[in-house]
Amino acid sequence: MKYVIIRDDDTNALMPAEYLERLYRPFIERNMPVNLAVIPNVSTSACHAPGKPEKFLLAYRGPQNGSVPIGQNTDLLRYLRCFPQFHFVQHGCRHEFVGNHYEFDHDDRDEIAKRLDEGIAAFQQAGLGIPRTFVAPYDQLSRVSMEEVAKRFDVVSTGWFELGRIPSAWWPQYALKKIRHASHWRAGRTTLLSHPGCHLSYHRSYSLMLQEIERSIESRRLTVLVTHWWEYFRDGHADEPFIDVLHRTADYLASRDDLKVISFDDVADKKISLN
Ligand SMILES: [Zn+2]
Repeated sequence: MKYVIIRDDDTNALMPAEYLERLYRPFIERNMPVNLAVIPNVSTSACHAPGKPEKFLLAYRGPQNGSVPIGQNTDLLRYLRCFPQFHFVQHGCRHEFVGNHYEFDHDDRDEIAKRLDEGIAAFQQAGLGIPRTFVAPYDQLSRVSMEEVAKRFDVVSTGWFELGRIPSAWWPQYALKKIRHASHWRAGRTTLLSHPGCHLSYHRSYSLMLQEIERSIESRRLTVLVTHWWEYFRDGHADEPFIDVLHRTADYLASRDDLKVISFDDVADKKISLN
C-alpha cells in the first residue's frame, strides 16, 4: 500500500473559507483527509520580502499592525468544523521575520519557545486542539528550533534535513536514514517527514504536474504533497487550469486501490510504516 498526505500551507484568520471550499470539495466528497498548515496568530504585515506582502493576505484590507489569532475568524472555523476531513497542523506562529531571519531559522531559544507556545495556545483557544505536527514557514528550521519543536510535537514536516540543523543526539538515526536513502525517519519520539518539493505550484508546468506527482508517489511509500491555497487565486481571480490540475489529482488518488490518502495524525499515531 502507498500513502499520500495532502498539506496545504498558510490557512489564517484573515482569509475567507470560500477558497478552501473551492479547492477541496472533491477531496471532501471522497472522504480524503486534507491537512491545513494553519498560521496560529498571523501577522497583518507579513511580507515575503521587504515591502512585498505575503499572498496569503490577499483578501485582507485592514490595518497592518499586530497579529490576529485563528480563533477570531469564527466563520472560517464554523466552515472547517463541518468537515472532519480537514486536519490542522501548526504552521509557524505569526509567519513573519524575526530580525533578518525566517521565523524559526535563528538560534534565539527563548523567542522560538515563546512563539511555539503562543501558536499552541491560539490553536487551543480556537478549539482546534493541541497540534501534533509542525511545519515551519518556508520549511526553515534551525537546530535550536528543531530541539524546541521536538519537545512539543510528534511530527515535523519539512523539505529536507541537514546535519547542522538537527540535534546531535539524532545523528546516528540520521546517518542510518542517509545510508538507506529513506525519505522519512524517526529520532527519539519525533517522526521526521520530508517532501519532494511543491509539485502543485504555479511555478511548475501545468501539463506535467500530474505526471510528476505520479512519479513521486511511485518512488516512495509515503509522499507528502505540498501546496498553497493562495497560489490558485494569486492575481485576484481563480486560476481555473491550475484548480483543474488539483481536482484531477483528487481523481487520480481516488482511482488507485493500492493508495490511501492519510493525515499527519495517522503518522503521529504510528498507523503506517514510513518507508
Ligand atoms: Zn507558509
